[in-house]
Amino acid sequence: MKKMIEEAFAKHFGGEGILYVAPGRFNLIGEHTDYNGGFVFPGAIDKYIMADIRPNGTDGVVRLYSIDMDASCEFGLNEEDAPKEQWARYVFGVCREIIKRGGVVKGFDAVFAGNVPLGAGLSSSAALESCFANALNDLFNDNRFPRMELAKIGQSTEHNYCGVNCGIMDQFASVHGKKDYIMRLDCRSGEFEYFPIRLDGYKLVLVDSRVKHELVDSPYNKRRESCERVARKLGVETLRDATMDMLNAAKDEISQEDYMRAEYVIGEKERVLDVCDALNRGDLETVGDRMYKTHQGLSKLYEVSCEELDFLNDIAKECGVTGSRIMGGGFGGCTVNLVRDDIYDNFIDTVTSRFKERYGHEPKIYPIVVSDGARRYQE
Ligand code: ADP
Ligand code: MG
Repeated sequence: MKKMIEEAFAKHFGGEGILYVAPGRFNLIGEHTDYNGGFVFPGAIDKYIMADIRPNGTDGVVRLYSIDMDASCEFGLNEEDAPKEQWARYVFGVCREIIKRGGVVKGFDAVFAGNVPLGAGLSSSAALESCFANALNDLFNDNRFPRMELAKIGQSTEHNYCGVNCGIMDQFASVHGKKDYIMRLDCRSGEFEYFPIRLDGYKLVLVDSRVKHELVDSPYNKRRESCERVARKLGVETLRDATMDMLNAAKDEISQEDYMRAEYVIGEKERVLDVCDALNRGDLETVGDRMYKTHQGLSKLYEVSCEELDFLNDIAKECGVTGSRIMGGGFGGCTVNLVRDDIYDNFIDTVTSRFKERYGHEPKIYPIVVSDGARRYQE
């Protein structure tokens, strides 16, 4: 990718710039926990956006070329200059959010490309934001913005320029990622901790169902409302502070549905903590067990799975995969799988053919390696 980007830069702008990269992310465990004040457990992956960037000496003219879109875009840095192309709005948003925070952005030229699949749940948009946020921090601001602020710049970009009301996890992971470590982020305090993930003898692989069920009434909002109702009933700010004992003591005053939602969320908090201990011991079998339990909870209690995802989960189990679960909000998208090396090929063949037999198309397979976060590129 490096060579292709450098050649495109030379062609469009002449000479060369400085290369930066930022990755997409996966989430090992901790789903639907962010809005409950709980934990998520993401890591950066070996799929990334790479950009070649060079200040162009102008006061505020930005010229971009996206290799993957095969399109150019030029904009100014004033608020009214927002480009209409979606892909360029991510870069514009990052510039604006840096300026809003008192940072400096001057004119620059950039060429970029990526290999994070778009819209597959690996957060290509966060990779794009983090790549530029980190680059502009380095080029124009002496790196004075701390890493967490770069993540917030990306998040605000989604909110204010892309119409996506996302949490902080994706940008957080893209910015803070570290090779061989995943990060437990406390969504309430913003504190985080690195945990080693030693995968000797195992691989991580995402299986993308390539389905996305559009649902009529917003199931996400309904889940959120259930959680808020139960929290109120239990007298806690969020379900983060609730225990199963508390929930059971109030069982009679809670609807069956709300009870199930809360049971999942409280269970998920426990599972995340179990996974931390297991990772510290290097015990991947326990990690896998909790992944299956999370899937079960998302499917039967939180009810955000779908036939295709349950099917992928069943096949994983049949093949002897160590851990497998829905990754992301649900109703489609990927499963994340922890697979022993010795059964890996068999699992991939089986899941591919059985899924195709049943649903008429093959799932996409994305092997992932836990990698470093946003950085200046070095060979
Ligand atoms: P994801 O789940 O992958 O983040 P989004 O819909 O949030 O999906 O973001 C995808 C958008 O991000 C694309 O439509 C495009 O505008 C932008 N994007 C992501 N990767 C690239 C890329 N390699 N080149 C240009 N734009 C990209
Ligand atoms: Mg996105």
